[in-house]
Amino acid sequence: MKTVMRVDPLPTNLSPDSLLRSLGITEPRDIDIEAIAYYVGLRVKRRCLNCCEAMITGKGNKGIISVTPGGMPQRERFSIAHELGHWAFHRGETVACRSTDIGKFSKLNEVERAADQYAANLLMPWPLFKAECCEHRRLHLTAVKAVSAAFRTSQTATLIRMIDSEVYPTAIMISHGTGGKKWHRAARGIPGYWFPRADLHPESFAFDLLHNANATDQAFPRKIDADAWFDNWAAPKYQITEQSFRVPGEGVITILDLDSGMIR
Ligand SMILES: [Zn+2]
Repeated sequence: MKTVMRVDPLPTNLSPDSLLRSLGITEPRDIDIEAIAYYVGLRVKRRCLNCCEAMITGKGNKGIISVTPGGMPQRERFSIAHELGHWAFHRGETVACRSTDIGKFSKLNEVERAADQYAANLLMPWPLFKAECCEHRRLHLTAVKAVSAAFRTSQTATLIRMIDSEVYPTAIMISHGTGGKKWHRAARGIPGYWFPRADLHPESFAFDLLHNANATDQAFPRKIDADAWFDNWAAPKYQITEQSFRVPGEGVITILDLDSGMIR
């Protein structure tokens, strides 16, 4: 008698929704990124890479994702998902990504941004993610920590996703490094004239964190005059809340919660 080994074909639709659906994933804790990579024909290896943080090498339908070992597990998961994104868009190709290519949602590099967006959609699928966000009425650090723990994603990637979720229509996040403001991200409906000022105002809590090594992260959001963060004509009329905290490798992150009158 001849034994025939059944080989399941690799999935052809690699969209995050399709993969999660076909693997029957309905809980954040079930999003096992290495199992998903294996399902689409990819193996994950940890090895030291020169000049890049993660890469994908492939031939035909099979490939290997390599990641530099020793990083934060949340960061590693995002890097693997990011490489999976490159595979979904350009199967069979070899791509090497530097740390600055991953998780920055670069406005300048469309290919890297698409891979980041893919990673976010796979690791934090909207229906599950929004349900988790709805457990937290306000967007503050405690909520970010709880949601990032549920999805095993970094605080920065989680916060970006929370801003994009439309659950918090008055929220803006801003990233500062020692060189000043790096980038910001605002909830979709916030008018463009609420654009955070380029210079950090000395009255802001973020200023203290950035310039005073002994300053501690803000445990709670606190009220501050809006003109500490915005310099347009309407700013003096409003108060907002600010919560600033340090994120290793990122600098100081600030969450602003605007007055609802500011977005009418
Ligand atoms: Zn990349």
